[in-house]
Amino acid sequence: MGYRNEIYSKALGIKKNEVKTANAIYEAEISALREQNKEFAELEREMNSIGSALALSAISGDSEKLDRLKAICNKLNEKKNKILKDAKISRPSALCKICNDDNYVAGKLCSCVLEIAKQLTFSELSSSLPINDCTFENFNLDYYSDEEDAEGFVPRKRAAALLKLCREFADNFPSVSSSLLFTGEAGLGKTHLSLAVVVEVAKKGYGVVYGSAYNLLSAAEKEHFSYSGETEKEDALLNCDLLVIDDLGTEFLTSYTSSLIYNIINTRILNRKPTIINTNLSFDELEARYTARITSRFIGNYEMKKFIGSDIRQIKALK
Ligand SMILES: [Zn+2]
Repeated sequence: MGYRNEIYSKALGIKKNEVKTANAIYEAEISALREQNKEFAELEREMNSIGSALALSAISGDSEKLDRLKAICNKLNEKKNKILKDAKISRPSALCKICNDDNYVAGKLCSCVLEIAKQLTFSELSSSLPINDCTFENFNLDYYSDEEDAEGFVPRKRAAALLKLCREFADNFPSVSSSLLFTGEAGLGKTHLSLAVVVEVAKKGYGVVYGSAYNLLSAAEKEHFSYSGETEKEDALLNCDLLVIDDLGTEFLTSYTSSLIYNIINTRILNRKPTIINTNLSFDELEARYTARITSRFIGNYEMKKFIGSDIRQIKALK
C-alpha cells in the first residue's frame, strides 16, 4: 500500500492512543493498588531492581547469577500475579488479535494500522474535495447531447463510454492495464469522473493523491527549495498508489516543475503505479508545452480519451 508517510505516522499515533485509552483503566487500577497495598508496591520495586541486575549479568555473561536472578524474578512474578488476581485486576486484551498491538507483523504494518490509514485518507479527501457530488451514480448523461457534433461524434455516447471506462478502472484497481489521460475543454466531466475513481480506490484502502497540477507541483517545489531535506511531497507524487493530476497545464513551468512532471510520469510508468491526468490542452498543445520527451511517455502507457460536449456548468447554471 502506498500511503504518504504522514498518513502512516498519524495512523500509528492514533493506534497508540487507542491502546493507551484501553489501558487507562488498568493503569489506574494498578496505581490505586500501589497506594493501598504496601506488599504490592514493594514487589514492584524489587522486580525493578532485579530487572536491572538481570540486564547487567546478561551483559557480563555470569550465567550462574543470571539463573539465580531469573528464579527470583519468577517467584516475584507469581506473587504479583496472585495479588492482581485477588484484586480482580487484569490487563485488557489486545485491541488487535493479529499483531497483539505490536502494529507490525513480520516487519510489515498490521492491517489494524492500515485500516486507520484508510480512514484518514478518506476523511482527508472528503474534507477537501466535493466527493459526494462527484460519484459514478450522479454522473448525469442527460447533460450530454445525443446529437452528432461537427466531427461526427455523439457526446452522450462518448460520456457513457468514459463513465464505463472509469468504473472499470476503479473496479479493477490496482490491476489496470494503463493510466488515463483525459483531454477536452473545461466543464465536460473530467474532474467529476476522476474524483469518482478516487473515492472508489480510496474505499478499497489504497493511498490516493489528488490535486490540481498547480497545487501539487508548487507544494513539491516549495518543499524542494526549502532545502530542509524533506521529500515527503515529491515522494507522495512518485509513490502513492493512485495519483490524479487535475488541470495539467495550469502550473508554473520552471526547470524544476518540468523535470518533476517527467520524473512523475516516467517513474510511475516504470513502477506500474497508475495515474490519471486531466488537461484542457490538446495533445499537440501538450507536446508544445512539455516537449515530446514527456508526451512520448503517454503513448503506449496512457489511454488517451477526449471529453466532448457543451460546458455542463453553464448548462446547470442556465437551468
Ligand atoms: Zn494489528
